[in-house]
Amino acid sequence: MYLDNAATTRLSRRAMAAMLPLMEGEQGNPSSLHSYAREARKALERARGQVARCIGADEGEIVFTSGGSEGNNYLLRGAIEANRDRGSHVITSAVEHPSVLNTLRALEKQGRIQLTVLPVDGYGRVSVVDLFAALQPDTVLVSVMLANNEVGTLQPISSIGNLCRERGVLFHVDAVQGAGHLPLDVQALRADMLTLSAHKFHGPRGVGAAYARKGTQVAPLMTGGEQEKHRRAGTENVAGTVGMAEALMEQTEDMEQERERLQSLSEKLIGGILSTFEGVSPDELLALLDMQGVAASAGSACTAGSNEPSHVLQAMGLLDGRRCAPLRLSLGRYTKAEEIDRVLDILSKTVARLRG
Ligand SMILES: *Cc1c(COP(=O)(O)O)cnc(C)c1O
Repeated sequence: MYLDNAATTRLSRRAMAAMLPLMEGEQGNPSSLHSYAREARKALERARGQVARCIGADEGEIVFTSGGSEGNNYLLRGAIEANRDRGSHVITSAVEHPSVLNTLRALEKQGRIQLTVLPVDGYGRVSVVDLFAALQPDTVLVSVMLANNEVGTLQPISSIGNLCRERGVLFHVDAVQGAGHLPLDVQALRADMLTLSAHKFHGPRGVGAAYARKGTQVAPLMTGGEQEKHRRAGTENVAGTVGMAEALMEQTEDMEQERERLQSLSEKLIGGILSTFEGVSPDELLALLDMQGVAASAGSACTAGSNEPSHVLQAMGLLDGRRCAPLRLSLGRYTKAEEIDRVLDILSKTVARLRG
């Protein structure tokens, strides 16, 4: 029972089938000048067009990366570097993924930016009013995620995007958790930059895409060869990008249906968890669940011992004075209704046992 889809997802058959021809036999480097190379380049550019169409972008606006962490680093560091003359104040939220928060904090520590980290409410939501109040004449960039990886909260992205556009501030969206579950349109979201990672929507691990609106200046993170029009040096992961494009198209095709199915499964799961987990050790709970075939996660949450408490739950005010056992159960395309029933059964017995 794999209920850790927020950490990574199973590679879909369709994505794997699309990738196979690009992994067996002679493969050309897309930059070489023979027929193998032309085939590889064609596959790469087809995948670029497919990814672009899935998010309402132009293919020239897509740079392939090694995943979400690289995409966030590239877009944030690159945009800050290339737009230094426009200001050095950056705004983000307290519940961002570490690849955004730690990157911006590192730049702040180096004195490259002045950083404002917006608080969130009890649901983990950023307030557009707070954001409005935080804007300064030298604000150059705002970065807010689409969907949170620990608690699933959706942010008011298009309102934030509208405000940024009015004020001439660049807007970056980490859409890694939303992609494949929500319709993504960079125009509707008012995003200037957006990050995707294939392994969160049943594509392969180690590949992603960074969107930067035409005209947005972003300095490269990886320098070297001329790949990706000088925006990202390194021989392209052709099979990976083809798998990513296929998985994204597959998720987009039955998105509405699949969202309704997962919505009802998750409501059932939430409704079935009647007991609170207060006083239960998350490490023990996870280990016992694992022994019974349930793969879950505590998020990056307040586990005993060396681990830091979750910055997301902390920002939501959920950790104040309480001993908590956060448990993250995240569903996906391959989650079956029977599994939810079994998990609920196992969970109630396991929690009872731990408290007994
Ligand atoms: C997983 C994740 C990332 C990082 O993606 P990788 O491809 O694993 O580097 C970034 N942001 C969010 C919201 C994520 O869930």
